[in-house]
Amino acid sequence: MAVSQRLLDLANKRGHDVRVALVGAGQMGHGFGCQVERMDGLKLSLVVDIDTSRIESLFKDIGAKDFIISDDQAVVTSALLAGQAVGTTKIDFLAELPFDIVVEATGMPDIGAQVAYSCLLAKKDVAVLNVEMDVTIGPLLHSIAVEGGAVYTVCHGDEPIEAKVLVDFARDLKFEIIAAGKGKNNPFEPLSTPDTVRERALQKQMNPKMLCSFTDGSKTMIEMAALANATGLQLSKRGMYGPPATIKTLQDVFALQKDGGVLDRAGVVDYCTGDVAPGVFVIIRTDAPYINHEMSYLAMGPGPYFALYRPFHLASIEAPLSIARAVLDREASLYAPSFQAEVVSMAKKDLNPGDVIDGIGGFTIRGYADIALDAKADNLVPIGLMQNAVIKRAIKVGQFISYDDVDLDEDSLIVQLRRKQDSLGLTYA
Ligand SMILES: [Mg+2]
Repeated sequence: MAVSQRLLDLANKRGHDVRVALVGAGQMGHGFGCQVERMDGLKLSLVVDIDTSRIESLFKDIGAKDFIISDDQAVVTSALLAGQAVGTTKIDFLAELPFDIVVEATGMPDIGAQVAYSCLLAKKDVAVLNVEMDVTIGPLLHSIAVEGGAVYTVCHGDEPIEAKVLVDFARDLKFEIIAAGKGKNNPFEPLSTPDTVRERALQKQMNPKMLCSFTDGSKTMIEMAALANATGLQLSKRGMYGPPATIKTLQDVFALQKDGGVLDRAGVVDYCTGDVAPGVFVIIRTDAPYINHEMSYLAMGPGPYFALYRPFHLASIEAPLSIARAVLDREASLYAPSFQAEVVSMAKKDLNPGDVIDGIGGFTIRGYADIALDAKADNLVPIGLMQNAVIKRAIKVGQFISYDDVDLDEDSLIVQLRRKQDSLGLTYA
């Protein structure tokens, strides 16, 4: 049965639509909120943002008539119970409010941690558009969710999930996975900063720091680490190969080296540049002769490597499908049981003692995907922990940053939760 019909049936049974709370009404959150409101059986009930003009703009775009904005917990609670749309700038009482699922869309690892952790402890379902946070403390959040009978999930629409859908499909059909990944969307400019991309960002109506996290490669590294962690596939190597490829050549490029491709082994995650973006892919193989014959007959190419390819990912537009899976089936679309891959930090410029790190997409560091146990052996710091860290000893551009090189912001919740995740032995596969 279609998801929309099942959501309508649920709303009829409960007497109200699924009440969705959204934290973060920036570009992603705004698109997500507009799409939620369009879908049967879902209602955008609560929007949390420090900027009330963003809340107003979103509620106006979805045609919410009598919404209120209040930072008073009692007022917010009774409005929600009365079915009214509500905005607030506060997250401290979020976990106590009467909604069905919260969607965290700030893209800031520490805010994501505060929202996800407090709501999961309150046994509320949590969906995130914050893969930066998931590659830092995903296993801890998943374990808390399981313990409390709640769902913790990364949302549909981003490349790691849509690539995982192809991986699951191929595994269900007993194909061997050679590689899975995405086409990188923006040109790779590893040393770009918010300043170098500012003009392009303004044209796209984007935050320059967000665009910089795309161009400097951090986002691709983070997404591919999330894909590895969710599927159990390994990272192809530190930093991955990231070769040029086209839709037509994917299965030739991501073949084993002995067959003319770039890979030294099968079962890995990687990305490519070229016209594959904004799509995702899986390269598969089988030693069953008749299945190979059938695949060729079905115009999938001569084999033995075949590419499954999805040409799009619809980000915030398809993200609400994860709400449906969580609410209807108690199922997470993507989570990390433990880490195969980690995203560590590399200096984008020479750094000196006393320098303060400005986080993902900033001027100081970029994300670099690594095999989790290699990152551990080299004592490297996950980039999700680096916001506001203070440099202790000089680092040259291009060097990795280890725990010995920095004082982390110990007031940050994500730093505390990561230490907890490590101490519980949840981090490594
Ligand atoms: Mg993406």
